[in-house]
Amino acid sequence: MRLTVEETGRAARFFADGIKRMASRPVRIMEVCGTHTVAIFRAGIRQLLPPEVELVSGPGCPVCVTPNEYIDTAIACSRCPDTVIATFGDMLRVPGSQSSLMAEKAQGADIRIVYSPLDSLRIARENPGKKVVFLAVGFETTAPTAAATVLQAEQQGLENFFVLSAHKLAPPALKAILAAPDSRIDGFLLPGHTAAISGLAPYRFVAEEHRVPAVVTGFEALDILQAIYLLLKQIAAGQPVLVNQYRRVVKSAGNPAAMRVLNQVYRPVDTVWRGFGVIAGSGLRLTAAYERYDAAAALPLVKAVSREPAGCRCGEVLRGLIVPAGCPHFGQSCTPEHPVGACMVSVEGACAAWYKYGQGR
Ligand code: SF4
Repeated sequence: MRLTVEETGRAARFFADGIKRMASRPVRIMEVCGTHTVAIFRAGIRQLLPPEVELVSGPGCPVCVTPNEYIDTAIACSRCPDTVIATFGDMLRVPGSQSSLMAEKAQGADIRIVYSPLDSLRIARENPGKKVVFLAVGFETTAPTAAATVLQAEQQGLENFFVLSAHKLAPPALKAILAAPDSRIDGFLLPGHTAAISGLAPYRFVAEEHRVPAVVTGFEALDILQAIYLLLKQIAAGQPVLVNQYRRVVKSAGNPAAMRVLNQVYRPVDTVWRGFGVIAGSGLRLTAAYERYDAAAALPLVKAVSREPAGCRCGEVLRGLIVPAGCPHFGQSCTPEHPVGACMVSVEGACAAWYKYGQGR
């Protein structure tokens, strides 16, 4: 049911007033997903909140959490003969340890921007003499499409298509945040699109094991405002539970068909996140049955020696320990035109969002 403009205004006032009424002590809420970070800025939600309610970004921007060692491996791969790199545009400008995919492209590497993993299959079909490596970055939302692409490659008998997987699962990162001794999160705004695939079960531990309130929410301003209201309500009552605010999209069981494809092609592995290090069971690697499509197994890739950009505090931003303005590079030596770290590159990156929307408050 769609609300009229008047009804939306009334509902927004109700939630904003309720939040103010219940905010009797400082609370720190993490918006896990980069899409939420941008939506919060765009809708001016920060300006509606009382000073007691602090919003911090989390590890839900896929490009931001992809560590430099992956970027460096992709760059090394782009330098191999007869190799095409197929990637989403966001990855191009992320600074690696010594170069970026954009710099490599400018120097002649065959790096092509795709809008769907399926585009990389077309490139593979059209270039049978070349190896086409798709840079698979993203969470539960995008991984099923990449998995379906591998199944199509098999159906089409393509032997020159490979996936370099940096896919990640969101719940293990939340576990890592909650287990950290410096964790100071009073509530989570959980990403509706990943829960739409995985269902609610993987997120129940937040309230059940850690007694931290959590609300799965959508991406419209009213969704987010209502979710913050629901979090404050739980905090005030001292009764943490997992609430599904986004019931019009997220079903309790998620999307079983998408999960079937995902689990057929990928298996969970330990993997490195920018700012976190290795998180157990948080990455996705191709299963043995599809290993021939795994660039990391099938191609002679040289393991890069990587380092993160000097002074970049992306890791702390992604763990909700500081806001972007707390980084001395922010808006000075690091801007969207000249990014020092990944969080300033991606449109979903917290630093880029803070920069674009006037640094919030
Ligand atoms: Fe890193 Fe730039 Fe963000 Fe600082 S402002 S944390 S250097 S991306």
